[in-house]
Amino acid sequence: MTWRSSSSSCTGSIETLALWHDTYLQSTGHKYQNSAPQHDCYVHDVESPIKSPRQGNPRSQASGGLFVNTHQAVAVINATIIDGTGSAPRPQQSIVVRDGVIEWIGPHSELPTLPENTEFVDIDGATVLPGFMDVHVHLAMDGSLNPAGYLHEPDALLHFRGVRNARRTLDAGVTTVRDLSGSDYALAMAVEQGIIAGPRAIMAIHAMGPTGGHSDSRTLTVPFDCHPAGAHFGKTADGEDAARKLAREILRMGAGVVKVMATGGVWSPRDAPEHDGFTEKEMRVIVEEATNKGVYVAAHAQGANGIKNALRAGIKSIEHGYLIDDEGIQLLLDNDAWLVPTLLTGTTPPDPTKATAYAVEKKNRVRALLEKNIARAFAAGVKVALGTDSGVVPHGQNLRELGIMVDLGMDPMRAIVAGTLEAARLLRLDGEAGSIAVGKRADLVVTAANPLTDIHSLGDPQNISLVIQNGAIVVDRRIRALALSTDRRTA
Ligand SMILES: [Zn+2]
Ligand SMILES: [Zn+2]
Repeated sequence: MTWRSSSSSCTGSIETLALWHDTYLQSTGHKYQNSAPQHDCYVHDVESPIKSPRQGNPRSQASGGLFVNTHQAVAVINATIIDGTGSAPRPQQSIVVRDGVIEWIGPHSELPTLPENTEFVDIDGATVLPGFMDVHVHLAMDGSLNPAGYLHEPDALLHFRGVRNARRTLDAGVTTVRDLSGSDYALAMAVEQGIIAGPRAIMAIHAMGPTGGHSDSRTLTVPFDCHPAGAHFGKTADGEDAARKLAREILRMGAGVVKVMATGGVWSPRDAPEHDGFTEKEMRVIVEEATNKGVYVAAHAQGANGIKNALRAGIKSIEHGYLIDDEGIQLLLDNDAWLVPTLLTGTTPPDPTKATAYAVEKKNRVRALLEKNIARAFAAGVKVALGTDSGVVPHGQNLRELGIMVDLGMDPMRAIVAGTLEAARLLRLDGEAGSIAVGKRADLVVTAANPLTDIHSLGDPQNISLVIQNGAIVVDRRIRALALSTDRRTA
């Protein structure tokens, strides 16, 4: 007897799936025929009034967290500003924020008269930076790297986990993320509507790759794609027509970036980082579809050949890049594309108690090579945006990435720019965020440490004393009674 999964069989509950699996294991004559089923259960509703991140006025969609009071003016005074552009720090500055937007920046001695209800935040010479951006996270993932483990979880648990991880990310000084699969667009909407506190999120929703590739997490016996959790992380498509259709479907769901698998990877059971994923032709049609909708494509790309396939297909965001060669570095430069080296995940040794044996072997193999390759790309001057792959490693330590970039030869100021304005350019948000400038969103991070002499200190959230998002204080580790200025200037 041959079992063949179909879209209708995918509608079963987790209990049904478990029963299938158990029955299969007990049945020696049965074979599971892998047909890469896709969910096919759409609810046709009226057009949603909620716009996707690429539509409408971006300012109106700014995420607010839970504590927004955008009408009150906030003045951050006695600040040393590192503005995210790479310019030298400017001491004794003040920043005035109103309606969530930076309204005035200048020497503290020239601070204009402000309304009576202005909240003065005296940071006593501490450094203020733009809110950081992590362009590679998976908020629904928690570092449990046995794909079959998701078979034992209800789908909704992913989303509750995402809520907690969004808060942890904000606590670490990250006010904007790009979630490259696993979380639903609902998470971005929940932040946007102030239902939960978290970074503003641009979502890939599902990653897409070829059958047997990095987004195909099914084990040999489990029809993994049938499980909602597994299906949330990755979908499969083969051939240009199928890739085009799946890209259109993911874009329809609200994706603000399309995530593709250009190579194999560490955590997928049936491929390796050196293997190609989608072909150049498949990726080319996905780029075409994304571009048509005003969206760009990010590629999980670890092996040297797949990196080049992705770049030749027109992909602008190369994730990981661990095995990049000189030709790939030159293509990055020629195509004006970004490298997102995800060093926090790449350099973290695998935990054999959590990861499968195949993942431990692949991870150690890549880890031995990546530092040299990424350092060479840094030295060649490629554009770099900060991304951590948090979710593969625990959330809430995102800014450790800055220190690792500096360990591989990057100047501390360039690392800060990679986590602020350069990341904003990749996310196409640089017109409204990513640097401290009049007219931009007031996403700010305050630290008592000196980031230029001790960049590693930013990796510990305890050294982030304040996080301001859209002009509202959303994280405050100061002792407010002592640190808040009693200075109440009146109009
Ligand atoms: Zn990846
Ligand atoms: Zn990832």
